[in-house]
Amino acid sequence: MSASALPQERRVVTAVPGPKSIELQARRAAAVAQGVGSTLPVFASRADGGVIEDVDGNRFIDFGSGIAVTTVGASAEAVVRRASAQLADFTHTCFMVTPYEGYVAVAEALAELTPGDHAKKSALFNSGAEAVENAVKIARAYTKRQAVVVFDHGYHGRTNLTMALTAKNMPYKHGFGPFAPEVYRVPVAYGYRWPTGAENAGPEAAAQAIDQIVKQVGAENVAAIIIEPVLGEGGFIEPAKGFLPAIREFATENGIVFVADEIQSGFCRTGQWFACEDEGIVPDLITTAKGIAGGLPLAAVTGRAEIMDAAHAGGLGGTYGGNPVACAAALGAIETMKELDLNARARQIEELMKARLAAMAEKFDAIGDIRGRGGMIAIELVKDRTTKEPDAQLAAAVAKACHNEGVLVLTCGTYGNVLRFLPPLVIGDELLNEGLDVLEQAFGAV
Ligand SMILES: *Cc1c(COP(=O)(O)O)cnc(C)c1O
Repeated sequence: MSASALPQERRVVTAVPGPKSIELQARRAAAVAQGVGSTLPVFASRADGGVIEDVDGNRFIDFGSGIAVTTVGASAEAVVRRASAQLADFTHTCFMVTPYEGYVAVAEALAELTPGDHAKKSALFNSGAEAVENAVKIARAYTKRQAVVVFDHGYHGRTNLTMALTAKNMPYKHGFGPFAPEVYRVPVAYGYRWPTGAENAGPEAAAQAIDQIVKQVGAENVAAIIIEPVLGEGGFIEPAKGFLPAIREFATENGIVFVADEIQSGFCRTGQWFACEDEGIVPDLITTAKGIAGGLPLAAVTGRAEIMDAAHAGGLGGTYGGNPVACAAALGAIETMKELDLNARARQIEELMKARLAAMAEKFDAIGDIRGRGGMIAIELVKDRTTKEPDAQLAAAVAKACHNEGVLVLTCGTYGNVLRFLPPLVIGDELLNEGLDVLEQAFGAV
């Protein structure tokens, strides 16, 4: 944590939002497009460790990490130190004009940390969506094919191509079409909602997905299959056992580039450097962003050297891609993850949270499922455990009750009925437990 360490405590001193946030909210409403939403209408002034402080002096326990970004905290010492030093040296030259070492060092780190011991190369970008788009460009250049296969409940971004890849209409796609062609969506092994039961979901969903690809698209037309090893926005869905290996094998047999979108699940979030390691999956390409750079905008496509080199010189890039300050921050974030062994910490967080959530599920029937890995944990809320009818209203009400008591939780899921917990992995057990106490009280109250 930074030298100006923010006290690691929850503190609610005004109504939420407080008067200063309400004032800023009025300015925001006049100046900022309403299409850009916010979960919690309080304005941040500082953030560190497991706490976000707002302009009214309220301190929130952070179960969101700015959507799985500030894994090392929002002002990690090594991130601040390295990024500040880089800022003082130069802010930008454009890697496509005059390269610099930080970009190369991040690509080297990605080659070391991503699964597989084959030769790897990377290209850096600014956002997750941009990384996914470039993975598609690279896969098409390599295979000389066009079709892209994605999955039910998948989320890959908000640009035109990635909207097409994303499953959910509201709020991501509604009214924003037409969408990019040659995108095909197939079933995913969503254990909790699989009609014949979670134990059958892996093999059955894989068989259905493969059958649809073969019959409806033609395997020989497919450039890439893109999947999140743990689906994020779709509801923290862990594809049931056997699903990912079956799809990986199908891709290999048919010369299809297998792309793991680890933008949310990567960089220690699930207790591994990358979530696909849990089933021994080695992707051909892997997209990263979010947790990679301690809060600075950076994203990457990393993969087999021969695939990455398929795009012609000058075919990939962008003015800001791999900005030197963001690269310095990434090196600081990775250093912190290694030094603090945040993979081990993520697994401790999973153990603590799942035990507490299991105890809550005994008391509250609305908790239909507890799932996720490491510091990527969710509960799915239902009106009835037998019918599994989603309860989005309850999820929203519990989240709001938590916000009012100084705990920032996020919702997600195709049905909007999932509460997700993504604490910074540097959060202490005390704050974690206190946040869960507040969650438990919120369930009791609503
Ligand atoms: C957030 C996310 C993206 C998009 O990243 P942006 O930086 O918001 O463009 C893509 N894929 C996954 C899995 C994500 O969680």
